[in-house]
Amino acid sequence: MTATLIDGKAFAAKMRARVADEVARVKAAGIVPGLAVVLVGEDPASAVYVRNKGKQTLEVGMESFEHKLPIDTSEADLLDLIATLNADPAVHGILCQLPVPDHIDADKVLAAIDPAKDVDGFHVSNVGLLATGQKAMVPCTPLGCLMMLRDLHGSLSGMDAVVVGRSNIVGKPMAQLLLRDSCTVTIAHSRTKNIEDVVRRADIVVAAVGRPEMVTGDWIKPGATVIDVGINRIGAGLKDDGSPKTRLVGDCHFESCAAVAGAITPVPGGVGPMTIACLLANTLTACCRANGLAEPE
Ligand code: NDP
Repeated sequence: MTATLIDGKAFAAKMRARVADEVARVKAAGIVPGLAVVLVGEDPASAVYVRNKGKQTLEVGMESFEHKLPIDTSEADLLDLIATLNADPAVHGILCQLPVPDHIDADKVLAAIDPAKDVDGFHVSNVGLLATGQKAMVPCTPLGCLMMLRDLHGSLSGMDAVVVGRSNIVGKPMAQLLLRDSCTVTIAHSRTKNIEDVVRRADIVVAAVGRPEMVTGDWIKPGATVIDVGINRIGAGLKDDGSPKTRLVGDCHFESCAAVAGAITPVPGGVGPMTIACLLANTLTACCRANGLAEPE
């Protein structure tokens, strides 16, 4: 391996410590930042994410409000809960864990969240504010990627960035953030022709595809920075007792990419921990804005 390992776990721990200091400052002014997380149903991965979010919210000194609703919750009842949370002054951030069950329209739910409390940054108002360069709530995963890139490179101005994936939650906002930092941005997706050649032009590659180890070392320009957003669980043989073993891999083939790249994020321990740290930072920002307090940097 020649690439520098970008330690998202350590970076996120530092960020959470900074958030905790700021939370103490806000609490001294008599305000306790609060994050409400809503989970509908029992998707095991979502349940793990929600548990981690709640735990880390409390660890930085914020209030955590968890709302676990049964899978047959109606859309109307979920919208009622969102309206209650919108009106609650103790709640500064609201997150509805996706995916929601099929009988609920996710777009309707996201649209119902007060944009000022939309710490996931998925409300169309925040999407529009980000796209027009105004003060927005920025989606946590791409924000975490951007922070790691800025930490590594300082200015990103003029760099060629290729984002692989065009989802609303990662690919598109990632491209907006890189554009805002004056990168030359290309978005690649499932219909992109000669995708390997497109990626090979990049100084910065952000892979958010959901396909295990799709991006291989021969796609990477020597010295490029690789940010691997993917979280994929794949089979890894059998345990001693004969039951199947699994492991987490990213959208990039780590060994071959690390042999060519200048820097790379591991999976796990790269982008993942930064996502929750950014969620806490967004909640703090929302709380400061709601109360007219100076915003953290
Ligand atoms: P989506 O499934 O919503 O989007 C995947 C994107 O990848 C689509 O734009 C799709 O293109 C594109 N794509 C699919 N196949 C190919 C291909 N063969 N070649 C090129 N592009 C392709 O996924 P998400 O954006 O939600 O998530 C992406 C990954 O990031 C997943 O592994 C997910 O688990 C992970 N993730 C990690 C987070 C973290 O905290 N670390 C947070 C969120 C997601 P098209 O639009 O043309 O179909």
